[in-house]
Formats: sequence, structure tokens, C-alpha cells
Amino acid sequence: MTIVKNIFLLLICASTSYPQQTRPEKSNYEETSRYQDVMDFLDALKIDGKTMKLTSLGYSTQGKKLPMIVVGSVADTKPETIRKSGKLVVYIQGNIHAGEVEGKEAMLELLRELKAGKHAEWKKNLVLLIVPIFNADGNDVISLYNRPWQYGPIAGMGQRANGQGLDLNRDHMKLETPEVSSFVKMLNEYDPQVTIDLHTTNGSFHGYHITYSYALNPVIDQTLDNFTRNVFFPKVEGKMTAEQWRIHQYGDYLEKTPAGKPGYYYWVTEPRFNSNYVGFRNRLAILSESYSYISFQQRIASTKSLVVNILDVANADPKLIKETIRKADDVAMNIRTFDSLAVRAEIVESNPAQEILLAAVKEERNPYSNEIMYLMNEDSLKKIVTAEFYSSRATKKAKVPVRYYIPDSLQSVIALLREHGIQMTILKESERKTVQRFIIRENKMAEREFQKHKMRTLEGTFESVEQTIPTGTISVEMNQSLSRLAFYLLEPESEDGVVAWNFIDKYFGDGKYYPIVKVIE
Ligand SMILES: [Zn+2]
Repeated sequence: MTIVKNIFLLLICASTSYPQQTRPEKSNYEETSRYQDVMDFLDALKIDGKTMKLTSLGYSTQGKKLPMIVVGSVADTKPETIRKSGKLVVYIQGNIHAGEVEGKEAMLELLRELKAGKHAEWKKNLVLLIVPIFNADGNDVISLYNRPWQYGPIAGMGQRANGQGLDLNRDHMKLETPEVSSFVKMLNEYDPQVTIDLHTTNGSFHGYHITYSYALNPVIDQTLDNFTRNVFFPKVEGKMTAEQWRIHQYGDYLEKTPAGKPGYYYWVTEPRFNSNYVGFRNRLAILSESYSYISFQQRIASTKSLVVNILDVANADPKLIKETIRKADDVAMNIRTFDSLAVRAEIVESNPAQEILLAAVKEERNPYSNEIMYLMNEDSLKKIVTAEFYSSRATKKAKVPVRYYIPDSLQSVIALLREHGIQMTILKESERKTVQRFIIRENKMAEREFQKHKMRTLEGTFESVEQTIPTGTISVEMNQSLSRLAFYLLEPESEDGVVAWNFIDKYFGDGKYYPIVKVIE
């Protein structure tokens, strides 16, 4: 471990040589930056509009402007300027969960390095969009009792939810928060090829400093999945390991996984999560999860190293990423080559014998709150070989249509699709068509509330009927790059679409049929 300690010493020495310090640096890593600290830090950096430019992503629920720093050789911050630059555009956000604060601090440190001229080689191929404080409202609701088990910052941290009490990392399909709506607007305007979302683990136990994930759902383009999993991340892992960071995919070692046997397991397939959502849009999505049970300073350092190594790998071969994404877009434009796709999914075994690093934790008391915190016991590191669950498969599928027809009365659905950037046309003349109509056999609402919703599930079957589609009906053609997203939003049995999030509740009529029909020619 001495090498790691030496790296930390070097980092500490390097950081103290900069005139601007972050709030953790000024407080011996006891405190995290408030919103105003972030703004003051950016002010002190004197972002001059040359290679670093300040703009904003949007506003938080409570009206805080969310700073977005554009880094790269571009004339201005206009989306079209950046899209047309030909560079690989990488979006990085910290603090979506505002108790998970090291992404924010790591991005401030990275911006300071960039201002001082470090990583100059990135300018050749990359433009960065950096949003250090995505959940600005949650960030400032500091409490010593938020995430008490996490090993600091011991003077407290923000809350998970945003100013509306919603989890931003469950909002990517329903778009009920101004923060995630702004994120989606940014995707539609700037079209970053890579996105990085910075978190801290939420209770899993393992022996790594930092873990990562990527989009995981059977609907996601297989070439993109293969590239991310087998080409991109092995390079990033190699670089991190060379710097003595212990890194692996994000998961949880369970004595009994849902499959019934022990294994290293990852839970998340739904596109309501940031990384999956970006994958549904055919872009390379990265989730970073630094480990809750190492020191705050180590978490900031490991997060920054992961981002730097991702950018180094991206900068080394931007063409390969662009080419992979172009192919994924092509497949999405021709989505009818799939007979059917998943509307519900689960995680399944990817490797029967994967080496996993485990470690026990020690208990310590927070000196201010007296709450128990956990710290990884470096002397207890243990390698085991176990099953790894890191693939996804459909638990329910539906036929992929040529198009969907949405009655013009479903204004909230139409507005949602528009916000996602899905292309639609209005029928100028009524048409007689053979359509697939969904007959509802079962219509259930969850008993428990989730994200202020009682999620709805439909079960049923499609029947073929001839119908007159009236003038003014909205047509969603599936030969578009966002076809995967449109499919998961509009399919009646989707686990994460307009039915699930109650957009259709008022439009079931006599309850026999789903009001949106599809055409399968
Ligand atoms: Zn999180």
C-alpha cells in the first residue's frame, strides 16, 4: 500500500501548489463544497473564455443556476459550434446524488488542473462539458446524519433527493425534474458521444477503491455493449491498475443472488437510470461509483483518476468511439430488423467464475455525530472466485412496429416524447389501416408509492384490427435514431414507459384497450 500512499502524498503536494483550494482541501477533508463554494471556486479560476468557457446546463428546482464548463478548442459554447467541431464531446456530471459528493470535488480539482495547462493533449480530440454540481439543491441540505455509515466527510453532506424530493437518477424516462429535463435538453442539443455520471456506492461491500458500470439492458445496441465492456473498459482498468487503484465493475457480493446462488451482482436495467438512458440513445454511458468505505480524500482522488483515464483512452482513439456510435445509430434507424425486443429485463449471469476482491470493514465513530461509520480494512483483502451477474435478458418481449399512432388527446405523452427529442409527425388526412391493438387483460397499480407514483403494469395481448386513424393523430415512425427509447416509452407492457409512470391513467376509456396502437406491416 505504500505506493498508493505515495500517490496520495504526491496528489496532496500537487494540490497545495494551486492558488485556489476546494473546501475539502481547506478543511482537512472534513467538509464538502456548498453550492456557493463551487461558484466561488469557478470564479477564482478566472475562466477567461479561451480554452475554458462557463455556461449553464439549466436551473435547479429552487432556481440555482447549474454551471457547465466547456473545455476545448471551440469558438463558443453554442451547441451547434460544439457538434460541428468534429471533436468527441464528453459530458461529465458530479453530485446527482448530493450525499455522494466526491465527483463534485474531483471535477473542481480537474478544472483547476485544466486551467493550469495540464492534459493539454485532450484539446486535440475532445471537448468536455463538465457539470460539477448537478443536484445543487440537495447538495446544500447538509446533515451529519445523511449517509452516516459513509466514511465522511464527517462534517456532513447533502441529501439524495433534489428540491422536489425526487431521486434524479430515477427520472430519466418520466422527466419530472428540471435538472434531468435540462440534462436531456443538453443531450438533444450537444449530442455528447460519451457521458460520465459520478456516484459513491450505496452499501455494497467489496475490496475495490472504485467501481464502474455502463448501460445494461437487452434493448441496448450489442456492438456498443461489446465495445464498452470488452474494448473500452479493459484499457481504462489497465491504466487504473497501473496507478495502483483497485477497480472492477460495480456490484455487490451476495451469498444468495436472485438466481439462488452466491455471486457478484448488479441490479440495474431500467432506462430511468442515467447510464441506461444514455445507452438507449446509442451513446457510450459510464457510471462511476467510488467506494463509500474509504477516506473522502481517496474517493476524490480515485474518482478523478478514473475520469482522467477514461478521457485519456477516449482521446487516444476517438474515431473508434464515433464509429461504434454511428453503427448503433444505424441499427436503431433500422430497428425493424429485430422481430421483437425486451419490454422488461433482468440481470443474469455473465461469467460463472470471476475473480472478485472482497474486504471486511472496521467500525469507527463520527467524532461529531457519534454515528458508526465503516472503513475498509486493508488487511482483510481476500480474492474469491464466484459467479458474476453482469448481463441482461428480456423477461418479456414485444414486436417492434413500423410506427405507433398516438391519439392527439394524449397531450402529456406527446409532450414527453417531444422533450426526449423523439421525432413525430401529425397525420394530415385520416387513414384506414390494419393496426395492432393491445387488449388489456390485467391493469394493476403498485400499492407502494415510488418516486411519488404508484407505478402501473399492464398485461394483455395484441390483436390485429382495421381502424380509421383520424386526422391529427400523432405518428411515431421507428426509422429514427431514438427508436429504442420510443419503443420502451410506448409499449404497453414496458416496465419504464408511459403506462408505468401513469401518463395514460386518464385515457383508458372503458378499460378494454391501450389507446396507442402500432403498425406491423
Ligand atoms: Zn448514487
